[in-house]
Amino acid sequence: MKRTTYAGLVDEQYVGQTVQLAGWVQKRRNFGDLVFVDLRDREGLLQLTFSADYPEALDLAQKMRNEYVIQIEGQVVARQASQVNDQIHSGKVEVVVTSAKILAESKTPVFDIADDVNASEELKLEYRYLDLRRPQMQKNLRVRSKIMAVATKFMDEHDFLNIETPYLAKSTPEGARDYLVPSRIYPGSFYALPQSPQLFKQLLMGAGYDRYFQIARCFRDEDLRGDRQPEFTQLDMETSFLSAAEIQDLVNHWIQAIMKEVVGYDLDPEQIDRLTWQEAMDRFGTDKPDLRIPYELKDLSGWAQDSAFGVFAKAVEAGGVVKALVVPGAADHYSRKDIDKLGQYIERFGAKGLAWLKVTAEGLNGPIAKFFDDAATAELLAATAAQPGDLLLFGAGRADIVAASLDALRRQTAQDLDLIDQERPWRFAWIVDWPLFEYSEDFDRWIAAHHPFTMPNEEDLHYLDEGEDPHQAHAQSYDLVLNGYELGSGSIRIHRTDIQEKMLRALGFSHEQAEAAFGFLLKGMEFGFPPMGGIALGLDRLAMLLAGQENIREVIAFPKNSKATEPMTEAPGPVAASQLAELGIQVQAEEQ
Ligand code: ASP
Repeated sequence: MKRTTYAGLVDEQYVGQTVQLAGWVQKRRNFGDLVFVDLRDREGLLQLTFSADYPEALDLAQKMRNEYVIQIEGQVVARQASQVNDQIHSGKVEVVVTSAKILAESKTPVFDIADDVNASEELKLEYRYLDLRRPQMQKNLRVRSKIMAVATKFMDEHDFLNIETPYLAKSTPEGARDYLVPSRIYPGSFYALPQSPQLFKQLLMGAGYDRYFQIARCFRDEDLRGDRQPEFTQLDMETSFLSAAEIQDLVNHWIQAIMKEVVGYDLDPEQIDRLTWQEAMDRFGTDKPDLRIPYELKDLSGWAQDSAFGVFAKAVEAGGVVKALVVPGAADHYSRKDIDKLGQYIERFGAKGLAWLKVTAEGLNGPIAKFFDDAATAELLAATAAQPGDLLLFGAGRADIVAASLDALRRQTAQDLDLIDQERPWRFAWIVDWPLFEYSEDFDRWIAAHHPFTMPNEEDLHYLDEGEDPHQAHAQSYDLVLNGYELGSGSIRIHRTDIQEKMLRALGFSHEQAEAAFGFLLKGMEFGFPPMGGIALGLDRLAMLLAGQENIREVIAFPKNSKATEPMTEAPGPVAASQLAELGIQVQAEEQ
């Protein structure tokens, strides 16, 4: 028996035909001399009927259980009108089975193969091959596959060469922690799995390949968060001789093709917003704003500095800011208790409490309303354009804490009140003109805001000279943001040794350290490297958003869990003493 089509594709057009199908038993209903089986394959479900007219097949159907793998032959017939199921593609037809075969039996599955199944994440990952049978997972991986196909086709049509770069690479400082791979031949030496193909793609430009593209796996040993995985995939590209604006234009059309072919959305590249980093921070408190949310942060520091409300006045006096969000129509939505909860929620960013005011037809309402006389009230309402029914949420204090808090509140309130604008459901934005450096609380020093190979703005190059303040410099870097997520970041690169050396010095590398870490790159640049730039887009995140999912684990076939382990294969796991001996590695006993 061969297979003529997928079960999930059989519909009215097949009526009268004989079909041969194979797949899994989703469900069986047994009425003795009549058995219904829902057959499932990757395209969907199809109802099979087994009757006494074909006793051998009926006999087998009696033995079938959920998740058995079966093969059948039968006739496609129309269902009676009362039996039509509008929920599935094949819902107007069924197949009268004339012969059948059981190809494999199955134990009772540990959870039902259904999207709304109530099983723990851990159990689902342990039996990932069952979880992957769910229709939503099948859709998700299809979205992912389609993105890769369209992305590759576009790149090919635009003369990019798909070139692989090594997975066994060299450990480089800066950035995240590396995953290390011990060398057997050189005990005590290690490869590092690449955090990105960054340096290799620059070297390829140096070698004259002009346009490079790769769907590249990247590895970063970082603390895990909801949307991070130890290994993730980037749509990685690099070009020579193009300006930042030209690269962004190319990416706009790349994204346009992906949006059209994967979700059928017509993205107009002209409508993609462009904001400087400073503007994004000022207006939204974040470098990855969700532009679908129709309200922004208002800077009220001027109004607040002489305020009778001491908290506001003192915040400004101490060099901080006072900003507010005007949440439209939210005054009646939140009780005092709800607002207290919002206040607790932002404590994680360092905020100490949440000041708020409700706007009514009569004026301001709330515990701090008494501090504002008529003039202060009028000024506040004019500055914020707040209307009766609106809720004002304030942030007062250090600029970064206020920014993070109001960004979080903006996202949360928009979700709570369903204020996300659906008119343009896919809001892409370029965030440009980033600072070259940022202060890292983790490392307690200045680090490169993107990476150490990012070209400063032309007019800021002098900041890298000795005696100047490099932290004033801005970079020729650009992030692409979608609906509040960072989708990718890129930049024009440094292609000259003298600038690269200055940059490394500004990052605190001595000449010797720079040579040891990046000597091969510095050396290469002495042999005529072209101006170059590129970007890497996060495939996992893009697939997650386009598949309408909230966690990247839903778009990765075999992801790690939140503890960076893989419950099915139990990676990472111990290895044999002989393997360690071969590598010259001794494992220290863990302290009890
Ligand atoms: N390699 C960079 C990253 O992974 C992206 C780029 O600059 O192209 O963030």
